[in-house]
Amino acid sequence: MAIVIIRQDDKIELWKKALLAQRPELEVYSYLEDHPKEKIKMALVWKHPKGALAHYPNLELIASSGAGVDFIFEDGAAPKNLPITRVVDDMLAKDMSEHVLAVILSHLKNLDQYKINQIKGIWQPIQYRRISDFRVGILGLGALGRELATDLVKYGFKVQGWASSKKDIAGVDCFVGDNGLIDFLKTTQIAVCLLPLTQETTGILNKELFLKLPKGAFVINVARGGHLVDEDLIEMLDTGHLSGAGLDVYHEEPLPKEHPFWKHEKIQMTPHYASVSDTGSVVPQILENYDRLLTKRDLLNEVVMEKGY
Ligand code: NDP
Repeated sequence: MAIVIIRQDDKIELWKKALLAQRPELEVYSYLEDHPKEKIKMALVWKHPKGALAHYPNLELIASSGAGVDFIFEDGAAPKNLPITRVVDDMLAKDMSEHVLAVILSHLKNLDQYKINQIKGIWQPIQYRRISDFRVGILGLGALGRELATDLVKYGFKVQGWASSKKDIAGVDCFVGDNGLIDFLKTTQIAVCLLPLTQETTGILNKELFLKLPKGAFVINVARGGHLVDEDLIEMLDTGHLSGAGLDVYHEEPLPKEHPFWKHEKIQMTPHYASVSDTGSVVPQILENYDRLLTKRDLLNEVVMEKGY
């Protein structure tokens, strides 16, 4: 019985150490080292190379070390019919909430524009906006969206959200499904995408949706690059229908140097780092699921295969 860690960044040793710190007797391998493939029961993955999961004949669980699982579904060679789990974690949710708040405040208080002006040597006061005048609409009211909604209410924003199923969150107006979307968009001045990337949500941030937002709306995408139609965003910013955008995720990461987002003055970019799984906070749920797998109990945070999230 063993765990393999498969990811292409430089964090394999970090995760291995974090798992072993809490459970020294575990057998944990990097997929890059020589390891007994038939012993592997669980793969702990993050943006693994496509096909890498196909090497384990006795694999029983694919565990994402982040909140998203889209990269697992995108791997056509990944074994089918195995359970997939993902991370649901208070620290991850709080980090996301703080990031989105920072982007919103930077926009309302013109910090993004002031930074540009500073570099150009321009001294120019710009009318600031108040939290109480803004209604934030959150697409996706799951683990992350719900935390953000609750925090924004506390800060004094008007808040509404949109999800597949009805939600009851104090102070938050909730809209549901295709029927609820148009009314939700009509009054959303700051739209935040926190949807999972699925067949239904791919390309959802497009011109048609943007045109349903009020003129001057601001769009934040912290979910996945695949939600956004890049050319539509640029067109809506250039025509002035949208006042700006805060982006953390992109179709291709790192974003290619020639991509027009880099130099667009109305786009605030961060390099897919809004919120990152903290090993200390997340490892206990990974180990709990490993124990549950071995003792054949229900897993935590299991993805619903039919929904894709
Ligand atoms: P959840 O699965 O907990 O929540 C997803 C929400 O989206 C749910 O409220 C769900 O509705 C709603 N939803 C899904 N599909 C639809 C649809 N077709 N129409 C309407 N609503 C829909 O996900 P999390 O909150 O944990 O994470 C969201 C995403 O954030 C992740 O999938 C990941 O891609 C991204 N992320 C980005 C990070 C970053 O650093 N940029 C960090 C972490 C996550 P219902 O509740 O009714 O099912």
